[in-house]
Amino acid sequence: MAKAMGKGMVRYIWCPRCYRKLIVNKELKETGLIVIMQGLAAGDFVCDYCAAILAVGYSCYAISMVDSLSDHESWEKEYLTQLEKVR
Ligand SMILES: [Zn+2]
Repeated sequence: MAKAMGKGMVRYIWCPRCYRKLIVNKELKETGLIVIMQGLAAGDFVCDYCAAILAVGYSCYAISMVDSLSDHESWEKEYLTQLEKVR
């Protein structure tokens, strides 16, 4: 699932555990160039970090790392339902 998009954007789907480990507790929180959406898996996915199974309906996080916020192109709706923007 991790993919480099056309411009300066890399996207990931992470499980809640990796989200907490990588974002909440770490220095990534300090960088401004990340877009985070929380939602429920619309299909069967695998965490891009730890490879945990994220079955339909599981909570997961869509992470976009961007060179600038204007590079963010919405992709999350294809993968997650009930999206909420975290930041
Ligand atoms: Zn994970």
